[in-house]
Amino acid sequence: MAIASVSPTTGATLKTFTPLTDAELEARLALAQKTFEQYQRIPLAQRCQWLAKAAEILVANREEYGKLITLEMGKPIAEAIAEVEKSALVCRYYAENAEALLADVLIESDTSRSFIRYQPLGAILAVMPWNFPFWQVFRFAAPALALGNVGLLKHASNVPQSALAIQDIFTEAGLPSGTFQTLLIGAERVAELIADDRIKAATLTGSEPAGASLAAAAGKQIKKTVMELGGSDPFVVMPSADLEAAVTTAAKARMINNGQSCVAAKRFIVAEAIADQFEQRLVEQFQALRVGDPLQPDTQLGPLATAKILQDLDRQVQTALEKGARVLTGGQSLVGSTTLPPELRQGNFYPATILTDIHPLSPAYTEEFFGPVALLLRVPDLDAAIQIANATPFGLAASGWTTVAAESDRLINELAAGAVFINGMVKSDPRLPFGGIKRSGYGRELGSHGLYEFANIKTVWVK
Ligand code: NAP
Repeated sequence: MAIASVSPTTGATLKTFTPLTDAELEARLALAQKTFEQYQRIPLAQRCQWLAKAAEILVANREEYGKLITLEMGKPIAEAIAEVEKSALVCRYYAENAEALLADVLIESDTSRSFIRYQPLGAILAVMPWNFPFWQVFRFAAPALALGNVGLLKHASNVPQSALAIQDIFTEAGLPSGTFQTLLIGAERVAELIADDRIKAATLTGSEPAGASLAAAAGKQIKKTVMELGGSDPFVVMPSADLEAAVTTAAKARMINNGQSCVAAKRFIVAEAIADQFEQRLVEQFQALRVGDPLQPDTQLGPLATAKILQDLDRQVQTALEKGARVLTGGQSLVGSTTLPPELRQGNFYPATILTDIHPLSPAYTEEFFGPVALLLRVPDLDAAIQIANATPFGLAASGWTTVAAESDRLINELAAGAVFINGMVKSDPRLPFGGIKRSGYGRELGSHGLYEFANIKTVWVK
């Protein structure tokens, strides 16, 4: 895959980049190693000050970075600016909390003094996706750099300008050069990197095949990995739910980021008693969305990030229809459509789509749809809802809607996911751990757990 920014809105190539040569890559690895030796000894308070400065830079330039994100991957501009602000938030969270979270932990044992000390591991490789080109990187980098690790970023090949901007932000914040480096390389060079002794661990956010490939390569080297992979999150609505709030949140939870979020609600599992109302309102909300140029502030649904994502999504929809699903709205690619202004017709536009009557043996029943496509499933009761919610290989997060305490207890206990949100939309938060189970991956980002993933949790026993 070429390393290039290609406008998802118009199809025009904006900028291309030459991948690093072997010698350039070697120089960056050597610099990372050398920087780590010094960086880990810099007082934590100083490292936190640099993170706080990075937060300031992000906030001061949020519009410029937001525009860059929208140009490269097509999310509505307001969401892009909000992503930059959230990236600042995670830098500030660790700047303010790392000292307390990384303090020695005294533990009584058979000696006079024993404790845990958290220490960094070295250079950590981050393989990141394009869907939140800033947020995904900062949520890895902020805790890793606070702890004293150094970061090497292999970003998705379609967001190279974002990748380079992030490196510049850390440099401008005052972090020593080599603390955070962007590597413009293709995915095929990741396995060779993980085999390098100077890389101590890796994290990947992306698809299952990419995760499996990196995890296998790291396994051979006995190196720690964190995997944040796909999801097909259920959104369960029971009869007692506040229907208005549930439908409005459902539309937002499916459409955020033009439908390309790992924790977007993807399967709407609705109790039969309220399903007609829910369906009708959801169709209305999807049809009311303004599709268009994501740089326009009133656009609610922009293009998909690449032509391939659109083709893959459309193929999934057409297969579901062939296997008996029924389309309630949308369902046909908008490429070339005369409903769009001429300058957008070569963009990767796909309409807000709802499919229902999905057969349990249809691939749609278990696959992830990474775009603005909602699957609507009707159930007689909570038992059936939980059974269907768990009937996928994924286990990232889940949202449950009910005002009956016994039902919410069951949803919390029985939904097989890394997170359960009751009467709210699933979202990440710097203070709360984030990650999945099953084929959604393992390990956690954010919160205190995210800080310890790439730490040597050293036991100290002193007599
Ligand atoms: P992807 O193709 O897996 O790409 C993600 C990153 O992995 C890119 O940097 C890509 O590089 C790299 N990559 C691809 N194949 C690789 C391989 N064999 N070995 C090493 N690296 C490889 O993911 P995507 O399809 O763009 O992203 C969407 C997926 O990410 C969805 O499944 C979504 O649910 C998931 N996601 C999960 C989370 C989470 O937190 N759990 C968050 C966001 C997205 P190139 O660009 O150079 O190919």
